[in-house]
Formats: sequence, structure tokens, C-alpha cells
Amino acid sequence: MEPLSARTTSRPFAPADGKQSPAQIPEVLPKDAHNATLVANVHPPDWQNPEPAPRYNLVVIGAGTAGLVAAAGAAGLGAKVALVERHFLGGDCLNVGCVPSKCMIRSSRVLGDLAVAHELGISLPSGATVDFPAVMERMRRLRARISHHDSVHRFHDQLGVDVFLGEGRFTGPDTIGVDGKVLRFKRAVIATGARPVHPPLPGLAEAGFLTNETVFSLTERPNRLALVGGGPLGCELAQAFRRLGCEVTVVEMEPQFLLREDPDAAAILFTVFQREGIEVRLSTTLKKVTCVGNEKHLYLESAGRQETLVVDIILVGVGRAPNVEGLNLEGVRVAYDRKKGVMVNDRLQTTNPRIYAAGDVCLDYKFTHTADATARVVIQNALFFGRKKLSTLTIPWCTYTDPEIAHVGLSEREAEKQGVAIQTFLIPFKEVDRAVVDGEEEGLVKIHVKEGTDQILGATIVARHAGEMINEITLAMTAKIGLGALSSVIHPYPTQAEAIRKAADAYNRTRLTPFVKKLFNSWLAWTR
Ligand SMILES: Cc1cc2nc3c(=O)[nH]c(=O)nc-3n(C[C@H](O)[C@H](O)[C@H](O)COP(=O)(O)OP(=O)(O)OC[C@H]3O[C@@H](n4cnc5c(N)ncnc54)[C@H](O)[C@@H]3O)c2cc1C
Repeated sequence: MEPLSARTTSRPFAPADGKQSPAQIPEVLPKDAHNATLVANVHPPDWQNPEPAPRYNLVVIGAGTAGLVAAAGAAGLGAKVALVERHFLGGDCLNVGCVPSKCMIRSSRVLGDLAVAHELGISLPSGATVDFPAVMERMRRLRARISHHDSVHRFHDQLGVDVFLGEGRFTGPDTIGVDGKVLRFKRAVIATGARPVHPPLPGLAEAGFLTNETVFSLTERPNRLALVGGGPLGCELAQAFRRLGCEVTVVEMEPQFLLREDPDAAAILFTVFQREGIEVRLSTTLKKVTCVGNEKHLYLESAGRQETLVVDIILVGVGRAPNVEGLNLEGVRVAYDRKKGVMVNDRLQTTNPRIYAAGDVCLDYKFTHTADATARVVIQNALFFGRKKLSTLTIPWCTYTDPEIAHVGLSEREAEKQGVAIQTFLIPFKEVDRAVVDGEEEGLVKIHVKEGTDQILGATIVARHAGEMINEITLAMTAKIGLGALSSVIHPYPTQAEAIRKAADAYNRTRLTPFVKKLFNSWLAWTR
């Protein structure tokens, strides 16, 4: 088994220019039985593209979450559907995103627990030993196991979708070319996703760096890792690698990492990172990189001061660029921006009314669940004269650090920007019994309501399982249930979700005005 070299700039999971023939799919490293199963499912080497039908109701370019959901949903409703994928069905989420990262995070959480075991009265005589190759092998095994959901054969044989492996490109007003074949469509969906941005920094490409497309091919633990970019990817992987035993430095040019998050939430995580020994350099810019032997020297600048950071591996996570190139979008009058992606209206229609877009290629919020949700909107609007609007979706998200940070709706910052008056109810976890007994007091629930009402506009939760807890708030917002009503929802004791009920109780207490209180007092005195 050939481990991926830390010096490599090759991209085992993606081509450099996106212009390869189907035969030149990226290599999936390391070459082991798990990756062989994965590839057999998501890009079987012996796959023969079918003969195209005379005309399709829907042709989907890109088989990540957005493309798969659009294709499966439309086919399930009886549409004749073609799905075109140049690399691997499942896209980023299965292959180089959510699935492999969450597998690593799961292993690293065990180490997080072991690190505080003594606080819970458990002593570990010899400490914990990390078997990094085994952690990565587990990840590859589980990724391969899950991959049958997204397999070419499932989509073709069970769901009745014509799957074409190859680079898709618009060739006429109602045609897409792939592998020398012409697919004629009534409607098309662009679901080509996004890729990691490669910053054009002096010396970086020459020194070699990893992105999400290559990091999950590691089979050996790096000793010293620099994470360039303090977004969700950077923070999740920084903590995972640190717990797995690496020296980790996060370099972030902004004064806060996780810039989209509530500053109080980011501050809690910052404290946790410091305690766990993760170096976080905020307001710091990477200027250039040089290679000295096997080491990479990063030249950093912060408040006019320069310093050099020496590491073995650089992992870059500075943003995502939409895959808009090579599709001949100009030829079919689909407007796009190289940074923002394909332009869509509120019904996810592009500037060509026959062509829609879904997922990372057109969204600001690049998540698997938004790719899924927008694909569902597209099915309704493209095939059934639906009027479903993107702006009506309530979109939560979660960063899977420990503790997790989950958010939905408006933040305080956005409310201020939009001139929306809000009232915030904050419950710190040190006031929640379950968090105290679990030793997980570092966290909070913050719920914002429109001032003078109990209409929930947004919420942030910092908790070990914040991603699970946020669903109660999202449900309330979607179903237009006010915060006051959540106070009558019985939560099992002791659970961390009781923090939500406590916030609702706090809201209800604000309704007990001096006048109402006086009224109650009089009534109770009279009925004594
Ligand atoms: C490390 C990491 C962790 C993440 N973790 C999470 C998480 O925990 N939760 C979450 O919600 N989101 C997470 N995400 C984001 C999530 O992976 C993406 O939002 C999601 O995969 C987007 O799906 P998509 O279908 O829009 O695009 P993609 O998954 O990128 O799929 C697009 C597909 O189109 C194909 N394609 C492109 N051009 C062409 C062409 N011309 N012809 C044919 N095919 C083409 C590509 O090969 C690709 O397979 C994570 C991302 C990363 C990088």
C-alpha cells in the first residue's frame, strides 16, 4: 500500500482541470479492498454507458447529493431521467466530505473523552495509543459500506435512471453531450458542485499541500500540520487531527474563526481549542511558503510582525469555487459568476428557463442538506409547474467540532444589519443539569425572537450534540410554532435539550408584566 506523500500536489480524488475523458478518472488512494468496493459502486470501471432515450424529461449534470436527489426523485415520479457524472457518484459528501470527515471525528471524540477521563474518576494507566492507519482504514471501510446507496447500479437497475459516466457539456439549446452521445432534454439541472480553492500564494504549489480532495487518502499521521483557513472544514479537521496526536496550527486571516457563527459560540470553541493545544493564529496572513528538505516553512504576518511556522503538511481550506467551467454555459445563455456560481432566481431557474441549478454550484450555503432540499425544489418547479421558492426554506447547519456549533435562521449580526429588532434568550449550559452531570458545561442555547412577539427568527446552540438539538428549533420555525409554545413541550429529564424549554420559560416570564402580576396577586389573595 503506497501512502500518499505529504509532499504531493497530485489530486487523487479530482483532476486538475476537469477536462478528462471518462477513462481518466482520478485515482482513489490507497488502493485497498475498501476503495476498490467504493469505486466499483460509484464509478464501476467496466460500466458501459447506455444508448440514450429519444428525449428525457430531465437530464442532470453532476451526481453529488443535489444530482442524485434530483434524478432519484424525478425518476420515482415517473420521469425519464439521465444522470451524468464525470468522477464518482455521491460527489463530495460521500467521497471527500461529510462521510470521511465524520468518521475521523468519531475516532477523535473517543480521544477527547479519554483526555478528560480522570475528571470522571477513571484513570488510564498507560494513556491512549492512536493507531492512525486503523482510524483511516475504518473510515475507508465505512465509506465503502455506505457507497451502495449512491451506486451506479442502484440508480440504473433499481431507480430506472440512465447513468452516463463522463464529462457533461451543453451542446445545443436542448442537448447535452457526454462520451460522444447526445442527450436531448425537456429540462436540465446543473448540479456540478464546487471544488476547493487553491490560493495562488508564492511557493505553496511547489511545496505541496492537501485539500479535502486528498487529505482522506493519508495513511500515516503527520507530526506537524498547518491548517490554512479557520472555516468549518478547518476547525473540524484541526480538532480531529490534534486529538489523533498531531501538532496543529490554524492560520486564519480574520479576527474570528468560523466567521459565520455567533461570536460567543466561536469564543467557546476558541477556549476549547486552546485547552486542547491547538495553536490558533487569528488576524494572521500566510504570505509565502518554502520547502526546506521535508519541512514546509510558512511565512506568516500578523499586525506587521513576521514569523515562520515549520510543519510537515499543509492542509488548505480557504473556500469553495463553483464548478462552472467547461459546461458551455455561455452557449446556452446561462449566466454565472466564477465565484458565486450559476445565477438562479428564487425558483432555482437559471437565466435559461429550461435549465435549473441545485446544490453547491448555485448556493451560498454549501451543505449536503441544502443540496438535497434544493434538488427537491427543482423537481417540483421544473417538472410540475411548481412555485416552490428557495427563500421559504429554513436552513440549519452544524459544525461538527466538540462541542458542536449549530445554527438556524438569523444571527444577532444579521438582524442588526437588516434593522430587525430582536430579543434574545440565552441559557448557558452550566444551568442545565444534564450538561453539568455530563461534564459538558461549555455551551449555550441562544434563541432570537422578533421583539414584542414569540416568533423565532434564529438560534445558535453550542453543545456536544448541537446538530441534533437544533432540529427542535428548525421544526418550530418551519411550522411557525412560537417560542412560548415550546415551554409546554415536555422534555425528558435530564436532557441537554431542556435548555430549549428553559429559554421558552424565560420568554414566558417576560409576559408576566407588573400589571398581570398584580392581577394574579389579587386573584390569589381573593381565593385564599
Ligand atoms: C471536508 C468537507 C466536509 C463536509 N461536511 C459536511 C457536513 O458534515 N454536512 C454538510 O451538510 N455538508 C458538508 N460538506 C459540504 C457538502 O459535501 C456539499 O455541500 C455537498 O456535497 C454538495 O453537493 P452537490 O451535489 O451540490 O455537489 P458535489 O457533491 O460537489 O457534486 C457535484 C458532482 O458534479 C460532478 N461534475 C462536475 N462537473 C461535471 C461535468 N461537467 N460533468 C459531469 N459531472 C460533473 C462532480 O464530479 C461531482 O461529483 C462538507 C464538505 C467538505 C469539503
